[in-house]
Amino acid sequence: MEVNCEGCAGCCIDWRAVAPDPSDHERRGPREPLDDVHNLVPLTRDDARAFLDAGLADALTPRLWRDESGVEVDGVPVSAVDGRPAFFLGLRKPPKPVAPFEADPTWLPTCVFLDPTTLQCRIHDADTYPEECADYPGHNLALEEETECERVEAAFGGDRLLDDEPPEDLRGFLLGPQALGQKVFVFPDPDRLDGVVARAESGDLTADDRALFVAAAVAAAPGTTTVDRDRFESALATAREADSWAGRATADWTDRAGEAGTPAPDPSLAERVEGDRGAPETPGWDG
Ligand code: SF4
Ligand code: SF4
Repeated sequence: MEVNCEGCAGCCIDWRAVAPDPSDHERRGPREPLDDVHNLVPLTRDDARAFLDAGLADALTPRLWRDESGVEVDGVPVSAVDGRPAFFLGLRKPPKPVAPFEADPTWLPTCVFLDPTTLQCRIHDADTYPEECADYPGHNLALEEETECERVEAAFGGDRLLDDEPPEDLRGFLLGPQALGQKVFVFPDPDRLDGVVARAESGDLTADDRALFVAAAVAAAPGTTTVDRDRFESALATAREADSWAGRATADWTDRAGEAGTPAPDPSLAERVEGDRGAPETPGWDG
């Protein structure tokens, strides 16, 4: 597998607003995400623990799915395992001023960890670098599914996917029952989600809502729906305290942003919004 990522970040940005043709690739199949974000990175339990330990729980957000065969919370039928709501834990995608694919700077939902100036990942060399990102687009290649690299090629030309042979070692590659408790999590106590699912549906999740899901992922047990209660409560307390550069920058970007797809200021604004708050720098593409 070999990819040409310079000037792309197509897998880190929800770039539908600048795509020449509409795409709904994450909304195929019987389960429809409650959120409206594309290119969500599903984190593993180990990723969730690393983010919690790094004080970055406020950079994470859940994904639930509308599912008529699931359980109802707040009047919304959501996917469930053994009667408990199922979810992915992903990375928040605030609107940022980015200029991928040689476009003019545009407000687009962008991974909280993407440096808008270089279009590189700020946590690439950190313990928190998600397994899914390290493997990307290996899972798609292994499953013979279209990659984001190919979607970018189709939309904007150029060569992005240079070698489509899947890598032999895909650490975060978990399917079916294997994924339970490691990538697909269950929320232990549906009553505690009163009001939360409605806010997930309307895109109004609070910091406290998001912390509940971080705690449930951290306290999950691989291959089961068991959630360690003590670990859940201690993780919840830690998640609630998170006050990172990433969380603060997300709030700031959200205040500043225009509609997705509208013209944005120069991406170097990120030096103030993210850099001055302590975001790790990225190396750039020279050399
Ligand atoms: S979409 Fe492909 S080429 Fe573009 S940044 Fe992601 S991995 Fe790299
Ligand atoms: S963590 Fe890094 S590689 Fe993964 S989606 Fe975010 S910016 Fe992209």
